[in-house]
Amino acid sequence: SVDFEKEQGVLESLFDEPETVQAVSDVSIDISENDVLALVGESGCGKTTLGKTIIGVQRPTEGTVSYRGQDVWDAKDGRGDVTVPFDDIRRSLQMIHQDPGAALNPNRKVLTTLEAPLKKWDPEMSTEDRRARIFALLDRVGMEPPEDYAHRFPHQLSGGEQQRIALVRALLMNPDVILADEAVSALDVSLRVETMNLLLELQEQFNTSFVFISHNLSNARYLAQEAGGRIGIMYLGEIVEIGPPDEVLNDPQHPYTKVLRWATADLDPTAQEMTDPPVRSIDIPDPVNPPSGCRFHTRCPEAREVCTTTAPELGEEAATASERCAACHRTDPDHEYWESEPLDGVEAAESP
Ligand code: SF4
Repeated sequence: SVDFEKEQGVLESLFDEPETVQAVSDVSIDISENDVLALVGESGCGKTTLGKTIIGVQRPTEGTVSYRGQDVWDAKDGRGDVTVPFDDIRRSLQMIHQDPGAALNPNRKVLTTLEAPLKKWDPEMSTEDRRARIFALLDRVGMEPPEDYAHRFPHQLSGGEQQRIALVRALLMNPDVILADEAVSALDVSLRVETMNLLLELQEQFNTSFVFISHNLSNARYLAQEAGGRIGIMYLGEIVEIGPPDEVLNDPQHPYTKVLRWATADLDPTAQEMTDPPVRSIDIPDPVNPPSGCRFHTRCPEAREVCTTTAPELGEEAATASERCAACHRTDPDHEYWESEPLDGVEAAESP
């Protein structure tokens, strides 16, 4: 398995100097073989940072990322007994982006682009074998005839076709995990479903795990549910609820999950009848200086005094999350939350 462990950790965003943003904090996640984890949240919630950290592209400032028991960054820095070389880790953890066109060299034919990583990672492979492997994968993702597609330039491909080339490039490495960062967001609706179904087929055929990042709750739910995987809801750098998509979305426990569900009409038809979102404030706090206690307390319609000082925890079992876990004091009937005073403008709910 690929483990991502983090204890009270902080990841610094590379893009926000001179101020430091806690892009992700206090997250512990375990990705096992043939797993699907869909991470959902608003822009800037830290889902891409978390995804990149899971696949060892972004170095955490605290905490550890391990692959098959090997600390990824120890392997990179050559610290201690390295049991899995960093090059093997790099090859096993791949990524596809939202905009595959930008990731493909416009001056290179598809074949040249796809041959480059194979030449690097397996220089002994013959040209014949290399091309046979590339053509087989092009064929597998529906690019027929593969020889024809292999000799095209990126501008001669549609957005969906470019995304498939990016997928083939990742699959050529026989990866254990592929991070798909908003990989279907730029596609037409019909192509989105087609591409997600392709990801599901490939996951099963190649035993590849997917970390699927999306701001679209419907897409994330579809993929996680069809794969029997998990969905993780992120808010201001934290996973606030995680578990099987049915449990998380049919009966949300965290007030923020309810907000996301409200905003996705096809998941919550009653949202059509509601005029206002179920929040006290629509203002998203500054991630440079997140609220104390529960980070959602400034917007939460159920916040009480204790929420302003004490941060709720997701619990260690959330790393594997075969059952739903939510980071909210309300979910614990014995928590002091129920004795605490509601914040101004909050109607007190009754203890379960
Ligand atoms: Fe709302 Fe308090 Fe739960 Fe945070 S811990 S989500 S503020 S009720």
